[in-house]
Amino acid sequence: MTESLLKKLCCPIDKHDLDIDIINEGEEGEILEALLSCAECGRYFPVIYGIPILIPDEYRDESMEKPLLKKWGYELTEGEDSELPLLEEKSGE
Ligand SMILES: [Zn+2]
Repeated sequence: MTESLLKKLCCPIDKHDLDIDIINEGEEGEILEALLSCAECGRYFPVIYGIPILIPDEYRDESMEKPLLKKWGYELTEGEDSELPLLEEKSGE
């Protein structure tokens, strides 16, 4: 996945353009890890191994994504000082 391709992606929920935060680039400018975020709805979408994970809320697994985002150095919503809005809060498990 290259940056120019990533820039063509939009939020699957509201079709808003996504901001790209590149974490890890491969040789030849290929983007391996990045974080896409939607300013409209506040969702974020990780790019893992060059693949953007643009899936609806109900198929996402927060417990899989959290460790990854922590590894990338993001503070996640758990207290007030959240840098990134997480998925909408789920009621129960
Ligand atoms: Zn959105």
